[in-house]
Amino acid sequence: MPAASTVSFQDIMRASERIAPHVRNTPLVSSNALSKITGCPVKLKLEHHQTTGSFKLRGATNAVLSLTAEERARGIVAASTGNHGRALAHAARAAGTATTICMSRLVPENKITEIRRLGATICIVGNSQDDAQCEVDRLVAEEGLVGIPPFDDERVIAGQASLGLEIFKDCPDVDTVLVPLSGGGLASGVAAALKTINSAIRLVGISMEHGAAMKASIDAGRPVEVIEEESFADSLGGGIGLTNRLTFAMCRDLLDDVVLLSESEIAKGMLHAYDAEREIVEGAGAVGIAALLAGKITPSGPIVVILSGRNVDMDLHRRVINGATALSGRCAA
Ligand SMILES: *Cc1c(COP(=O)(O)O)cnc(C)c1O
Repeated sequence: MPAASTVSFQDIMRASERIAPHVRNTPLVSSNALSKITGCPVKLKLEHHQTTGSFKLRGATNAVLSLTAEERARGIVAASTGNHGRALAHAARAAGTATTICMSRLVPENKITEIRRLGATICIVGNSQDDAQCEVDRLVAEEGLVGIPPFDDERVIAGQASLGLEIFKDCPDVDTVLVPLSGGGLASGVAAALKTINSAIRLVGISMEHGAAMKASIDAGRPVEVIEEESFADSLGGGIGLTNRLTFAMCRDLLDDVVLLSESEIAKGMLHAYDAEREIVEGAGAVGIAALLAGKITPSGPIVVILSGRNVDMDLHRRVINGATALSGRCAA
């Protein structure tokens, strides 16, 4: 086990057992199209079919089920309006725990409705994600709610790692795993699980060119901030935190490579997922496919591609399927 990792294989096994009754063991299927294109066996981990539409349910469920009875009674809080927020709301409701999700006034109505539908209390505050996070910090400090962060947390990483165990079970001779990478909770967990089983398994993190905070931080040797830009892979946006405790060191030590993609390459990944694989995948979930199509992965198989989520605005998805290669207002890269 690499020294910097602070999530043990035992933590991962326990998390996997703890969450098993509450999450789907998603299918691993062969992709004939991608196997033909790359010349080696390619399999897709259909994690976008996870309950709530992304792998985030694994970490959220493990975090919620790891709370003490006293913490559970206090209730949990987070600032995410995306896949982490959905997953947390679902996991908390399943466990009978109250959740508060803080969001800014700028969050679109459909996202608010979705989180409310999952049973969370909505707290609208300020004009930015930072304002929402400030309110979370206040609720934790002053009202005793329990904050559950989206990636830099032992319980969350151990939960995401269960995906790595499933991959190994279904494909014990796996050579390479392509993992969408943002804050690095998914990549840290999956890499910790698989590298412990077999350190020769190659783990490649995939991010978008614009605002790849983990890649910039690994290159700089410490957590750094990057300028955020709109992307098809919106679930990959955001920083890793300048005071990152776990995922920076884990990704630095456990990932064999990090590959970056342009917007048009990500769009091609979504298009391939739909046309050739018949899967609706959000931009962040399609980056592994996109990296293969862009020729950015040395083909050595079996390659497992994690399709991490499907929560895409369907109007945006239609535009991509109809050939859009950039979000409006930005030139195709
Ligand atoms: C959160 C998310 C990611 C990135 O996960 P990290 O743990 O932040 O690296 C990738 N894909 C989807 C769909 C996500 O929701």
